[in-house]
Parts: sequence; structure tokens; C-alpha cells
Amino acid sequence: MGTAANNLPPAYRSADAVRAALAEVRAVYAELDRRPVMRACVRLTECCQFKRTGRTPSVTRGEALLAIRALKATGRKEVPPPTDGNCPMLEARTGKCLIYADRPFGCRTYFCEAAGGSYERRDVLDLIRRLEEIDQRLGHRDGPRPFTAALAVEQGGRGQVGSGR
Ligand code: SF4
Repeated sequence: MGTAANNLPPAYRSADAVRAALAEVRAVYAELDRRPVMRACVRLTECCQFKRTGRTPSVTRGEALLAIRALKATGRKEVPPPTDGNCPMLEARTGKCLIYADRPFGCRTYFCEAAGGSYERRDVLDLIRRLEEIDQRLGHRDGPRPFTAALAVEQGGRGQVGSGR
């Protein structure tokens, strides 16, 4: 079985092409931030405790690749093993998200009642479609996957897609 990078379509095997795709993922996050929907994440990190809540956000391939790249920008080489059923990006020592600025769409629109509850799907459907379109170009057509599983799969392609910003 090849790595995730080997599974990229030829047009996306260059670092520049992947970088452009991940910039589009970031543009989707930025557009979400501009939406006039009142949300106030105060970093309680409750939604980062997957086992406790019984819920794990799903991510696209582009989002998983961006998360891995953001993690590497912190100087870490590998996605940390999840502890206590929490998100692997939740640092056990500090209790903070390691990639907060690049956290996935699901972390921004999720169910946290303290932050204002879930977004209505109709309010963000166009952005979901944009993330899916990016994935199509990245050669992934199977839809979003649970975050922890997606990180494990996509980390296999880190040599080509996980370095640089
Ligand atoms: S990526 Fe960050 S905000 Fe999202 S669940 Fe993981 S630790 Fe929490």
C-alpha cells in the first residue's frame, strides 16, 4: 500500500501544488470566521476530549494535511499518540491545542454549547463543499474521516506533504 503522498494525483505531487491546496483550506477557515454567526470559543477544550464526549470531529484530507503541517511548524516531527481518549493535538502538559490557528472546520463549528452550539449546516454548506472540492483535487473522494484516523493515514505522506509552510 502506498503512502498518502503517493496517492496524490500527479498535479498535486509537487510541494507548491499541495501548498496552494492547503492555502485554500485556510481560506475556507477565514471565510467561516467572517460569517455573521455569533460564536465564542473560549478554549474550554471540552470538544477535544473525544472519549469523554463520545464525539470526534471528521476532517477532509486537506484539513488533515494542514493540521500535520501546522504541527510540524511547532517543531514536532510526529503526531503525538492520543492520551486518555483526547485529540492528539491537545497537549497533555499545557491542556492547549497545538494547532489552534489551523484547527479543523469541525472544531470551529462543532457542538460546544458554551461556544454557541453547532452551526446550522445550511449556514456553512458552501464551505463544506469547498473543502470537498479541495479533497477531490487532492485525490481523496471517500469523504471526511474521524480526525485521529485521518492524521494517522496522512502522516504516512509527511515526507512530501508535511514540510514547509
Ligand atoms: S484540533 Fe485542537 S481544537 Fe480541535 S479537537 Fe484537537 S485539540 Fe481540540
